[in-house]
Amino acid sequence: MTKIGLEIHCQLTKLESKLFCSCKANYRQYEPNTNVCPICMGLPGTLPRINQKAIEKATTIAMALNCSTPDHIAFFRKNYFYPDLPKNFQITQLNIYGETSIGGSGMIMVGDKKIRITRIQLEEDPGRLIYEGSSSKNQITLVDYNRAGTPLVEIVTEPDFENPKQVRDFLNILSDLLENLDVSDPGLEGAMRADANVSIEGGNKVEIKNIGSFHDLEKAVHFEITRQESLHSRAIPIAQETRHWDDKRKITISSRSKEEELDYRYFLEGDIPWVEISKDLQEKLKAEMPESISSKKERYISKYNIPEQVANVLSSDKFYSDLFDSSHTEKNAKEIANIITTDLMGLVDTTEKRNESKLEPTHLQDLADSIVSGKLTRTNAKNALYEIVKTGKNLSQIISELDLGNVSDENELIKIIDQVISEEPQAVEQAKSNPQTINFLVGKVMQKTKGKADPKLTLELLQKKIS
Ligand SMILES: [Zn+2]
Repeated sequence: MTKIGLEIHCQLTKLESKLFCSCKANYRQYEPNTNVCPICMGLPGTLPRINQKAIEKATTIAMALNCSTPDHIAFFRKNYFYPDLPKNFQITQLNIYGETSIGGSGMIMVGDKKIRITRIQLEEDPGRLIYEGSSSKNQITLVDYNRAGTPLVEIVTEPDFENPKQVRDFLNILSDLLENLDVSDPGLEGAMRADANVSIEGGNKVEIKNIGSFHDLEKAVHFEITRQESLHSRAIPIAQETRHWDDKRKITISSRSKEEELDYRYFLEGDIPWVEISKDLQEKLKAEMPESISSKKERYISKYNIPEQVANVLSSDKFYSDLFDSSHTEKNAKEIANIITTDLMGLVDTTEKRNESKLEPTHLQDLADSIVSGKLTRTNAKNALYEIVKTGKNLSQIISELDLGNVSDENELIKIIDQVISEEPQAVEQAKSNPQTINFLVGKVMQKTKGKADPKLTLELLQKKIS
């Protein structure tokens, strides 16, 4: 049997500042080594000060993953020497004196499969090492400490996964959940990283380190299972080892075994007193927790009669569900859900595009109303949406600028219908004996109006004329 366990590192990208100092948590926008201070550089005489918001966000994650949350948490020093770690130790958590990590055991359902969470830790991220140079001979390594000290949550699972698909489904659920909690933007480069351990047929456990994205995690697990199965089928023993994920070659490679836990010489971080997370605070965090994805989905289906598939898409992405919740009314909910999941999704499928989008909730209301009232065809509504996302202009302006409006003036439409009737006598006769064929005439009217006639009204008028 295949057993897979995960250790997921998730940056709390929605926080303002680092875990123990006031440097920015959003290190990505700065020139290398400018988002630093004596605290995150570990200069002698400095003292860390805990970011209370980080404690709260991490506790919220623990609650959402059904973990126990202790009243007091402690931090530990994990000692090791590496260029990305200016202090020569990382401040992290460890359950050595009982449960002192931010989250204890929990679980999450992935379909019918229960995935147990072992624990959740709050810790600081190290700096970034950037390797440059074309060959191993003249390669140089650059160090950027902007990331050093940014808040990171480590989520450790039990080895409950049996195949890569379960891993992928779990990661999808987890990244939607973190986004919905407004703690992290999983789409940012490096925001989600992971280690995995894999064993097959009760054999030795192999750890895969250094997997830089969720996308690669599934690939790495898949590769490792195939590698182990190939060894197993040839009766070659599988070594217990640590392997690294090579994201260029998409393979795992054996690496010199890293330190054992003992070698880290963990000890209690004396510069940070135990942090109390009172029952009152826990109650408050629970009450302030955003509506869960499953409850949103349930609400969309039961209240607005939105099809399950659409409700699924809408509820699992915070960007879309926020947009939906701030724009719909009871009357146009279905139509707005439809616009978001069929037309908008293709226009704003990346974080950058979402940030650049000029779309406001009122735009969606106007669009939905125009479709419902027959003022715009769906095709033209889609064209208008494209313009709105790009320019932010209001709908009526776009309709007149691009001449998208329907021919809804009855007299004008009747003139065109009369014209079609005189041009297509044969089709008219046919429609009289076989009402189904009237659609041919509707099509002709559409052609003449370049798709701008209201199809419902056209059909009604045509029926009246030839009956
Ligand atoms: Zn700092």
